[in-house]
Amino acid sequence: MHWEWAPGATIRTGPTVCVDIDGVLSDGRHRQHLVTQRPKDWPAFFRAAADDPVIDTQAHLLDQFADDRVIALVTSRPEWIRSATTRWLVDAGIRWDLLAMRPDDDGRPAPAVKKDVVAGLRAAELEPVFALDDDPRNVVAYAEVGVPCLYIHSGYH
Ligand SMILES: [Mg+2]
Repeated sequence: MHWEWAPGATIRTGPTVCVDIDGVLSDGRHRQHLVTQRPKDWPAFFRAAADDPVIDTQAHLLDQFADDRVIALVTSRPEWIRSATTRWLVDAGIRWDLLAMRPDDDGRPAPAVKKDVVAGLRAAELEPVFALDDDPRNVVAYAEVGVPCLYIHSGYH
């Protein structure tokens, strides 16, 4: 698991909020069929993410957190769409400080990836205190590593 700070972000340590992207900030309903069909087309699914509408009511929820909280976006999206994802976030005007993504060669389920991110953040003195995710499996994963996670309903899972 690898993360990068947002363009212009202040690199720091401290209390961190872990926020999922798909189904929380971005509306990927238009591309779900690419992974519910057989065979699944993951490359097309991720490429289409650049066209996701912003979920305004939830994206601006992040503005409610205290300014000193680090907003860490923790996504199962693969690294190969990092630049497209960063562009989307900047265009959407979403508040965020760092973006953690799945390595391109990491095929594990999302909960394992997210647990790794929590461990990595802690090692860097970024203490996850709260999380938001729309996948019930990830809500459980966060709870298992001591991070309270609020479920956001997207209907994808
Ligand atoms: Mg999600």
